[in-house]
Amino acid sequence: MATILEPEVRTVCNDWLRVDLFGATIDVLRMSETLEIVLAWAAAPFDRCRYVVTPNVDHTVLLQHRQDLRAAYHDASLVLADGWPVVAASRLVGKPLPERVPGSDLVPLLMNAASPERPLRVFLLGAAPGVGERAARNIRRQWTGVDIVGVYSPPLGFEKDEGENNKIIYLVEQTEPDVLVVGLGAPKQELWVHANRDRLKAKVALCVGATIDFLAGEKTRAPRWLQSMGLEWLHRMLSDPRRLVKRYARDAWTFPGIVWREKFGVR
Ligand code: UDP
Repeated sequence: MATILEPEVRTVCNDWLRVDLFGATIDVLRMSETLEIVLAWAAAPFDRCRYVVTPNVDHTVLLQHRQDLRAAYHDASLVLADGWPVVAASRLVGKPLPERVPGSDLVPLLMNAASPERPLRVFLLGAAPGVGERAARNIRRQWTGVDIVGVYSPPLGFEKDEGENNKIIYLVEQTEPDVLVVGLGAPKQELWVHANRDRLKAKVALCVGATIDFLAGEKTRAPRWLQSMGLEWLHRMLSDPRRLVKRYARDAWTFPGIVWREKFGVR
């Protein structure tokens, strides 16, 4: 097993802009800046579990009426615009975000930055049984600088089971990852990390939805050309219509009103 990341001398820029948008306070950061920040947290000695959330349209819709999700967002160390519609809408309302910072891109880019000399210790939490192990195999093959220190797929309903929660906390404590990749779906992952942040011995937890599935090859990302057209959501919807069509229809109905209220200051 590789050694722990050396704390490195890197100035963490903690004076970047944040903007209030669609019920969240979003960090105005590019992907390259985000990578710098997360890598610096991952390299520094543990002091507390910071966590990162990545709002898409569905999150903004949930944030309108979910106080618990708002609280989870409030305490996050980084709030990054995951989807193109959120970035486009930020420009419409005159609070432009520079670019998308999708969690599913952030994770592999962090892994690219690791090297056997400066390994990144990663724990994969979530996805269906067996998927995390497949993702771990692919990661070990592709990124020799990444040390997968733990993989766990909690059973359905785990969040209501004290024993299961304690087990996850224990597994993380035993392995002390630099990065905890949390793929439990939204808003479960954000609420769970928020509720357990004081007990989690990971330097950074990334709430990143289906990222473990993507790393395992279980699900595929939209092709780059579709992403560049701002249509990744369409690819997702068509790849899982039974689960997502209803949700996206509700979001398409609700989001324009959220943008309108933001633009004209209506509460
Ligand atoms: N998932 C999980 N445990 C749960 C619920 C979901 O591990 O109790 C995983 C699921 O297997 C999948 C991911 O969470 O890997 C879902 O991520 P996605 O971003 O697609 O979900 P969404 O946030 O869109 O609902």
